[in-house]
Amino acid sequence: MHGEENRLREQIVRYGRSLFERGLTAGSSGNISVRLKDGWLLTPTNACLGDLDPARLAKLDWLGKSISGDPPSKEAFLHRSMYQERQGAGAIVHLHSTHSAAVSCMSGLDHASCLPPLTAYFVMKIGRLPLVPYHRPGDAALGEAIRKLAGKHSAVLLANHGPVVSGTSLEAAVYATEELEETAKLFLLLRGTPVNPLNARQIEELVSVFKLEL
Ligand code: ZN
Repeated sequence: MHGEENRLREQIVRYGRSLFERGLTAGSSGNISVRLKDGWLLTPTNACLGDLDPARLAKLDWLGKSISGDPPSKEAFLHRSMYQERQGAGAIVHLHSTHSAAVSCMSGLDHASCLPPLTAYFVMKIGRLPLVPYHRPGDAALGEAIRKLAGKHSAVLLANHGPVVSGTSLEAAVYATEELEETAKLFLLLRGTPVNPLNARQIEELVSVFKLEL
């Protein structure tokens, strides 16, 4: 195992612990993956993100077959679907984080964009967040539903479940996941209050200054 893979293994453990200790993931829920030159790493099934062992992370090939380590999370196909559509994705974080999961259960959401552009940071890190319809755990059709959206969106929200967020690096994917969770929190805090989300002109300005693809 070469140095770069070891570094990424340690990084998964470090971010996993940080997310767990701050209450962004509970029990054995949530999973983290990173792309390698010769496959990809994923957190194991039934593993707690707060207590991962770098040597036991699941290493998989692009058909989803195990190369080494513990058996992978049963949600491996969510990650694989996203990577297949996003060649630039270096890492993916999937959590059942409370506020994002709460929003994913609300009725009346705009399925093309389920959180409003409340802050510039949400627009810059997430952009438009589509809702993926509910599927039971393990349903392969969920992978197909993610594939349909992942080409255009770096993050999606699974209905009655939680977010799947990709980034060019693990750090970028974790930061974007946290921005999404904070925006979901703001959205819930502001329910019933008249709000001014960013308007079309303000969003266009962000797109042009920061070269965003929305
Ligand atoms: Zn899940």
